[in-house]
Amino acid sequence: MASKYWIKLYHEVLDDPKIGRLRVALKWRFIECLLVAGDDGILPQIDDMAWRVRADVEELETDLNELSDAGLLNRVAGDWQVNRGIGPEDRIRRELSQSKKRKILKRDNHICQYCGGEANQVDHIIPVSQGGTNKWSNLAAACWKCNRSKWDRTPAQWIADKENRNAPMA
Ligand SMILES: [Zn+2]
Repeated sequence: MASKYWIKLYHEVLDDPKIGRLRVALKWRFIECLLVAGDDGILPQIDDMAWRVRADVEELETDLNELSDAGLLNRVAGDWQVNRGIGPEDRIRRELSQSKKRKILKRDNHICQYCGGEANQVDHIIPVSQGGTNKWSNLAAACWKCNRSKWDRTPAQWIADKENRNAPMA
């Protein structure tokens, strides 16, 4: 029986950068975790879960470890538990009113503050996940591409990650 809580999390999966960065197969694995988790988020024993989702036990174990590295699962007394991730409180804090979005876009002349392109979104400069607020000074007009690429990083972290990726392999 799915509780409201898990259905809510399911919708938010689409906007969670931790999930957005997963490879496609792991995204599906995570959805399976949500489907088989109890209301407390605890997953069934690995053998039971493997049977339920028709996966190889070792393969499943590898995937669960990878999901844990991505910050989506936790080990709790020998069991795997789905992290709460974006709770309803965070969601309320994160959501901007349409009128505030419009005002920020107007303030920034609908120009993406990262690339200078046309902006149709509003970005939290310091991401909510790192304590960023909905204050005017923490909001910037952004294009879809920059907003998506930046995800839950600060501008400095975003640039550093880009530079790391572009650095030639030693
Ligand atoms: Zn941009």
